Amino acid sequence: MAKRIAIVGAGMGGLCAAILARQAGHQVTIYEHAESVGGTWRANRYPGVACDVPAILYQFSFAPNPLWSHHFARGAEIHDYARSLIDQFALADSLRLNEGVTRASWDESTRQWTIETEQGARDTADVLVPALGQLSRPTFPAIGGVDDFAGAKWHAADWPDGTDLTGKRVGVIGSAASAVQLIPEIAKVAGHLTVFQRTANWCVPRNDQPVTPEAKMLLATNIDVAMRLGAMQRQMLFDQADNFSWQAFQWTPEGRAAFTRTALDHLAAQVPDDALRAKLTPDYPIGCKRVLLTDDYYPALVRDNVTLETAPIERIERAGVRTRDGVHDLDVLVFATGFETTQWNWSMDVAGRGGKTLTETWREGPEAYLGIMVSGFPNMFILYGPNTNLGHNSISFMIETQVNYMLKTLAALEAEGAAAADVTADGQERFYQRIEQSLAGTVWADPHCNSWYKAANGRIYQNWSGNCASYVEATATVDRAEVAFA
Ligand SMILES: Cc1cc2nc3c(=O)[nH]c(=O)nc-3n(C[C@H](O)[C@H](O)[C@H](O)COP(=O)(O)OP(=O)(O)OC[C@H]3O[C@@H](n4cnc5c(N)ncnc54)[C@H](O)[C@@H]3O)c2cc1C
Repeated sequence: MAKRIAIVGAGMGGLCAAILARQAGHQVTIYEHAESVGGTWRANRYPGVACDVPAILYQFSFAPNPLWSHHFARGAEIHDYARSLIDQFALADSLRLNEGVTRASWDESTRQWTIETEQGARDTADVLVPALGQLSRPTFPAIGGVDDFAGAKWHAADWPDGTDLTGKRVGVIGSAASAVQLIPEIAKVAGHLTVFQRTANWCVPRNDQPVTPEAKMLLATNIDVAMRLGAMQRQMLFDQADNFSWQAFQWTPEGRAAFTRTALDHLAAQVPDDALRAKLTPDYPIGCKRVLLTDDYYPALVRDNVTLETAPIERIERAGVRTRDGVHDLDVLVFATGFETTQWNWSMDVAGRGGKTLTETWREGPEAYLGIMVSGFPNMFILYGPNTNLGHNSISFMIETQVNYMLKTLAALEAEGAAAADVTADGQERFYQRIEQSLAGTVWADPHCNSWYKAANGRIYQNWSGNCASYVEATATVDRAEVAFA
């Protein structure tokens, strides 16, 4: 029997769930707090925003796009891709934009979820799919005086439309994933750009290239060829990421040696100045924090109108940013300071069996079986949940794998004539024993390494512990010793 599925969030996760669940015969409703679909790619509009995973690997396997402009898609075109899925898969009738979910609660007597929205709606559903993303709550550093700054300031994830930085004195705080994309763009137009770096990051070549008009024409006009070539190229890139790049995250130095060499060669080739190179050389093992793919970040720092400041920021003042060298006068200050990742404060309340809330359940830290199910919350399937982030491959792939796992579970429920699936407390516990053991073999567990993957208690709640192939294996079947049906 078709299930009624309430999907919360219309980013890549929510869209994937809606498309595949509908194809499997279920009814879906997608609730989206914002005015448009696309999630991450709707919100992040800073100059230079792009995907770090090749487009062909980031797109869904069931929706190849022949029109990507570059090997690595730009943010705006991924947003367009997400929007195009609405028409391609006729989802408009199922989509409720500008309608955030405030609360979802499980009713054991009816075996249904009640969904309450910002608009005051109270709907019911058999299945709840929170697809809220991991990187959507921008964070600001705890630096005194932020409000004293007289110029304009904003977070990279909240870039004001129509901004012109031509000739301006711009400061960027941060030097990680968003920063290395936006700094080269700002450097082209700013009068002067000061980059405030707390930690040097490991960077490797991106080797990005535009997709040629001939290739686009071939792909757009010959769908069969496009599909076959695309599938081959996708598999090749997937294998390369999963088998080769994954080694950058192994704890053993041998696994990471080749990546360290590549990154140091990249730095040496692009930064001839010894002093600047020293400032840009990380002092921790590669892979511990997100490895950055960039061809134009180092060349931007070499420009005459750019300064890399590594002295700690003392405070922000009316005129600019003060370090021990004095005040750096600025017209504009950009916070490329990332997202809140380890708290898992969801934008909606969820109450499971016996009214126990997810906030209470996750007080000691967020745990979800396979990153998808939480014991005591029947028929809830989280997408891009705890321990499903990656450093080496595509999150869309993980999301598609999670949706497939949900559909397998719903099919198994149907086959057994049951209504609700819930991971047992023991099953979840055993999963965490396995994953913690396996995470201990990764570079993220290095006690000297701090990253946004690691919570204050030292545990890693963000990342999957292996490559994508191992996640496919873990989610291949519904293990009835761990997931109970009722
Ligand atoms: C700048 C940036 C670059 C990235 N680059 C890459 C990359 O190169 N490769 C990669 O694999 N991944 C990348 N990621 C990770 C990216 O977030 C995922 O790839 C993917 O887009 C996550 O999709 P999602 O649907 O899970 O979450 P999101 O895209 O965050 O979407 C969540 C949606 O839920 C909505 N929502 C939240 N709360 C509610 C509520 N209560 N009710 C209704 N709606 C709600 C939000 O408005 C949003 O639309 C990047 C992330 C960022 C921020």
